[in-house]
Parts: sequence; C-alpha cells; structure tokens
Amino acid sequence: MDRPTPQSAGPNRPRHANVEEAPGPAEVLFGDDHREVEPRFGGAAWVERVCLPRWWQLPAAQQPAWPDRAALRDAVSELRRRPALVAARECERLRARLAAVALGEAFLLQAGECAETFAGVRAGSVVATMETVLSMAVMLRQLVGVEPVVVGRMAGQFAKPRSESTELYGDARLPAYRGDAVNDVHPAAAGRRPDPGRLLAAYDSSAVVLRQLRGWADSARPYPVGIGEDVFTSHEALLLDYEAALLRPVPGGVQEYASSGHLLWIGDRTRQLDGAHVGFGRHVANPIAVKLGPTATPAEATALVRRLDPHRQPGRLTFVTRFGADRVRDLLFPIVAAVTESGARVGWVCDPMHGNTRRAASGRKTRRLPDILAEIDGFFEVHRSLGTWPGGLHLEVSGEDVTECVGGGLQEADLGRRYETVCDPRLNPRQCLDLVAGMAEMFGNPWQHRQLPTSA
Ligand code: PEP
Ligand code: MN
Repeated sequence: MDRPTPQSAGPNRPRHANVEEAPGPAEVLFGDDHREVEPRFGGAAWVERVCLPRWWQLPAAQQPAWPDRAALRDAVSELRRRPALVAARECERLRARLAAVALGEAFLLQAGECAETFAGVRAGSVVATMETVLSMAVMLRQLVGVEPVVVGRMAGQFAKPRSESTELYGDARLPAYRGDAVNDVHPAAAGRRPDPGRLLAAYDSSAVVLRQLRGWADSARPYPVGIGEDVFTSHEALLLDYEAALLRPVPGGVQEYASSGHLLWIGDRTRQLDGAHVGFGRHVANPIAVKLGPTATPAEATALVRRLDPHRQPGRLTFVTRFGADRVRDLLFPIVAAVTESGARVGWVCDPMHGNTRRAASGRKTRRLPDILAEIDGFFEVHRSLGTWPGGLHLEVSGEDVTECVGGGLQEADLGRRYETVCDPRLNPRQCLDLVAGMAEMFGNPWQHRQLPTSA
C-alpha cells in the first residue's frame, strides 16, 4: 500500500514549534476531579505538594485540540473505570532490570513501531515485530556479549508529537496526523478531526497487543533462555488525558503508577522542565525515560535528573539521546559529563533513528543504515572516553520486509516497493540483524566499557 506523502515536514524543524497550539491548563481535562492521595502533613512530599503547582496545572505541549469536550469527558471517565493494562509489580521488576542497565551490567534493547496502528494490531503484526527484536537480543548477547533487557515499543504507542501542526497534500492543507489514538492517517478533513473515542480504541488495541505478547511468550519454545521471561512494553506518554485516566494507586504509596505501559518516555518536544509531561513523569512511580535531542543542554539534563530522579534510584531514569551521526560526539559528551559529575547514575541509551531522518528524492522520509551505525559509533566513543556505560539502543523496527530505510541490500530506488509506515521509516528484519552485526564489529570487547567511576 502506498500512502500519499505529505509535503511539508522536514528533518530539521525548530523544536517545540507547537507550543502555541497546546490548549493550556484551563482547557485540558486531566486535572478535573483528579483524586490524588494527599500526603500526610509534613515531610518533603508534603512541602512539595503545598509549594509546587500540581502537574496538571502546568502547560502541556502537543495536546490535541479535541473539538468535542463532552465526548472527551465521556472517554476519560470510561478509561478511569477500565482495568490496569500493566501491573505495578511488573513496572517494579523492569525498574530493577533498568538499574542493571544504569550500573553497567545489562543493555537495553527498546524497539518496535514508530506509530502503532489499529489496523496493524488487527492484522496481528506484533508477534513478528517482537520476534525480530528478540533475534536482535540473542545476537547482541552472542556477538557483543552484553546481557539484553528487551522492552517493546508497543502496546500503547498510538500517539505522535508533530513538528508541524498541519500537512500539505497537493493543494489541501490538513491537520497533521497525530497517531491513531487521536485522528485518522487517511488525508481527509473529517478523519483528521481529533476524536476522543479513539482513546478507548487505543486502550483496547493496547490490551490486544499485550494479550498477544503474553500468550506468545508463554507458548514460544524454545524461548531464548534468559531473555524476556517478562514481557515489557513502552510508549511515549504524550496524551495526558489518556495517561491521567489510567493512573492507579500504588498500595501504601504517595505516588501513583501509570498503568498504560511499563516504561514511559517523555519526547524531545515535550520535555520542558516546567511542563506538564515532566510533572506527570515526576508524579508516577514507573521507570521513566526522556529523549534528548540537539537542543538539550547539560544544565537541562541535570535539572531533569533533579526533577525526575530526586532520590537517585537506579533504574528510575533513562536518557535516550538522539543527536544525529554528525553531531553526536559534540553534543553527547558535555551532557554525559555533567550528569555523571552531578553524581547521578542514569541509564544512557542511543536512539540512532530520530536524528538521522532524511528526505529521499521521492519525498519519502528515510534513514540510512550507515548513518545509524555512525551515530551508534559516536555514542560508544563518547561513553568509552568518559568511562560511562553505553546502556542500550532505542530503535524503530518492523517484523515485515518493509522498504523504508536504506542499507541492508536496499537502495533509495527500492523504497517505493513496500513503504508502509504511517510515520517514521523502520528497519526491516534483515537491516536489524545487519545493524547488530555492524555494532558487534565496532563494539570490540564490551567489558572494556565497564570502567565506571567509583563515586556512587
Ligand atoms: C519518536 O520516538 O517517534 C519521536 C517522536 O521521538 P523524539 O521525541 O525523540 O523526536
Ligand atoms: Mn518516530
């Protein structure tokens, strides 16, 4: 299937370009009659509660302008009644695995769709994607010698931040596609209206994906030993009405946990220090990741540590860096140096996809495997020079033989054959294995990376 490609977006848009369309605190629902456990009088949690604004009162970037408020209210109250998608104890088990990543004992492989779709879930593509990710994990262990922690970018990845709020198709300027949880990818005005009913469909599709993954993990034999006894999922915590409706109490705790997925991340466009997404991340007990792109500064990174990991709990905070092959060395070094200098111990993960998106001559978005490997190489080099652990990879992949990225036997001229992504170009299974093979070559002996600073 070939989908019309919008003509507007480019790879180097200014960041946070959409802030003006964020509805602002008065118009969002996620604070309304929000039942939150009041901490007991006194203590740091109480001081914070009394002195700081509630997270939902902070400005939220990249929220859809839902036209039908009553429908949004209905969808949110329905979500509040639904069962948790993931359990608090599973999130805690993942946090313990991510602590091993932060401490240099394990390697995170976080991979899956850029944007899951309801149709993709119906077509059952998820098992093929997870199998591709698991074969990478097996190869990583055998060729590179690291202990993989596998986390799917799936079962909740239905919403997208956009650099441009509109897209041009021929003469028609339409609202941008914001993921199946918000509107329809088909370029027609009616379907591009944000529809809150889609939040319920996103929940249902997430539940289907989780059921498939869990059923498959129980039945798949021989299962790669030691990998993925637990099925862990992740997505960008973007739509705060959805995420807030799925907050569930942690027994005996002041925090709540986000029951929509195990690991939630805050995107590069929504990581404002005083924004609602960071406030939300601070509020939840789940492990949290934050994407850091080219505009991120060392001071912002250390401030994010203070906001999101005040107790310096290993596994709580992971930074996913995505600078582009050309700039990774210059931009990553001062950030890792400052965070390490502050005494924090976070997980460092390389997303070599989002800083290396290009337009092919056809106008299609693509990524070149050599650029992807070059960013990984720069990431390793920076961590090697600082004595810190390069803790993982964050990738957009498909289990199908799609033709969206260049390399691994595909040229730009091949991209039209099977270009199916609704958002960013994904690696196909062959490209995934080529990536690990290329990485194994440059990684050398991984344990040479383990000379970690002794100041804890
Ligand atoms: C993404 O992961 O699909 C994404 C939009 O990333 P970023 O926030 O890093 O741009
Ligand atoms: Mn993407």
